[in-house]
Amino acid sequence: MARSFRIGSLFGIPIKLDLTFLLVLPLFAYLIGVQTLEVTEILNGVLEAGIDTADVTAGLTPWILGFVAAVGLFVGVVLHELGHSLTARRYGFPIESITLWLFGGIAAFSEMPEDWRQEFVIAIAGPIVSVLVGVGSYGLFALTPEAFGGARFVLGYLAVLNVALAAFNMIPAFPMDGGRVLRALLARGRPYAQATQQAASIGKLFAIAMGLFGLFQINIILIGVAFFVYIAASSEAQQVTMKAAFRDVTVRDIMTPAGDLHTVEPNASVAELLRRMFTERHTGYPVVETGGAGGERLVGLVTLSDARDIKPVERDAYTVADVMTTDLKTVDPDSDAMTAIERMREHDIGRLLVVEPPNGRGAEGSFGDPASRTDGDLVGLISRSDVMTAFDIVQQSGAVDPSGRPRTGD
Ligand SMILES: [Zn+2]
Repeated sequence: MARSFRIGSLFGIPIKLDLTFLLVLPLFAYLIGVQTLEVTEILNGVLEAGIDTADVTAGLTPWILGFVAAVGLFVGVVLHELGHSLTARRYGFPIESITLWLFGGIAAFSEMPEDWRQEFVIAIAGPIVSVLVGVGSYGLFALTPEAFGGARFVLGYLAVLNVALAAFNMIPAFPMDGGRVLRALLARGRPYAQATQQAASIGKLFAIAMGLFGLFQINIILIGVAFFVYIAASSEAQQVTMKAAFRDVTVRDIMTPAGDLHTVEPNASVAELLRRMFTERHTGYPVVETGGAGGERLVGLVTLSDARDIKPVERDAYTVADVMTTDLKTVDPDSDAMTAIERMREHDIGRLLVVEPPNGRGAEGSFGDPASRTDGDLVGLISRSDVMTAFDIVQQSGAVDPSGRPRTGD
């Protein structure tokens, strides 16, 4: 989320504002301001607020109250997210940040608990905090003398809004809090991935219902939330399924081993490289320098997009060394396949070099001279399409035993 900026931190957790939040804050201030009269009548009816409607509807007062109540609501949202975050931290899960955006707040965890009890407690902590904030607002409301109509309006409204926020979040639409609670409960009796699939399916149904309801009501916020829930449920379910499918699959199992790799020399021309890409139908090559004593040294990685940047007329003049990437992203052959996917996603690249860490268990499919290289030995290459193909095979055939080392391409 590059469009966000930090406004401070609480309990060591950075609090950030997304640019979309700057849109939604005035919108909420406006929506509350417009409805000051109706809300006052409701508060007077339900909470016996005794607010003089003339007090809160005069001049600019509704807009000021709208703004204060909107800010108060978002403070409530931050407290809600802190509820999730501090609970997660107690279980040892690090929290990266809390971000306020278009649809409220997001607490960014770098990993999620797979123990159902922990997930249950973390998920329910947010709504519990919101109920407590609502009760606290009601307490302050009750203590505020009737003469302060504006303050009673804001506090009474926040009491109702925070409880409503808790109730809304408990809708079992995964990945909303209620959906996470549902997954935790489902995961008691079945595998985590299966529980996630089921919770996500229910979440998508709720999202569709919410979206339709939003359409009938012409409620743009509800339509937006429905859309967001649908996308998030799909992507989290896919990620969890992938993780489960790849549980015992390592990078070594699905990489292209060094022995099968086509490599290119740094002094080859870009024109030559493109011809090879065309005839071999590969779009990425490790660049390897052949040294004096038969030693080979990995110096870079070159892809079709690197070569494409050179104009056709200049492709004979430029060499691979001119266009290759030397800032190489690598992955350990023994790390699991999911780590490779996450690293590619993190760096927004399509392939990783598989490098045996120095002093490893001896290089498999040896490449280069381990003694001459301090930064490890190239044992293979793994691409996004390798991972996706492997995932499709595991998904469609059930489990593949990686120890049997099934290999394609022969
Ligand atoms: Zn929540």
